[in-house]
Amino acid sequence: MAYLSLRERFKIPVYDREAEMSWSEVSVDDETCDGCGICVKICPSSALRLVGTGKEKKPRMIEGYHNCIACNDCAAICGKDAIAAVAPIESTFYYKRLDHGDLTPPRRY
Ligand code: SF4
Ligand code: SF4
Repeated sequence: MAYLSLRERFKIPVYDREAEMSWSEVSVDDETCDGCGICVKICPSSALRLVGTGKEKKPRMIEGYHNCIACNDCAAICGKDAIAAVAPIESTFYYKRLDHGDLTPPRRY
C-alpha cells in the first residue's frame, strides 16, 4: 500500500477539476427515445438538456459541464428504456469509496 501523508489523507476532492474526477456519461438510444424530457427534469446534477426541435428532441450531456454522477435516475424514470449511465464516476486520488457494482437504476418507476 502506498504511503500517504497527513495532507493526502485529509484531502477533499475538487469535484470540478478534471484532473481529480472522471465523470460518468449517458448513452441514449435515439431510436426508442421519444424526447419527452423527463430524464432532463429529474437529473439531480442538471447534466442533461434536450437538443433538437419538435419530435426530434433528444437528451444530451451538456457540453463542458461534466457532472454526471452515474446515479441512473434518468434510466429509472425513462419509460422507453432509452437512456442509461455507461461509466462510473472515478476519483484519481486515494479516496475511500464504496464498491461501484453494476450501473443499475435505483428502481423503475
Ligand atoms: S425519459 Fe427516455 S424517452 Fe424521455 S427524453 Fe429521456 S431518454 Fe428520451
Ligand atoms: S445518471 Fe444521474 S446524473 Fe447522470 S445524467 Fe442520468 S440522472 Fe443525471
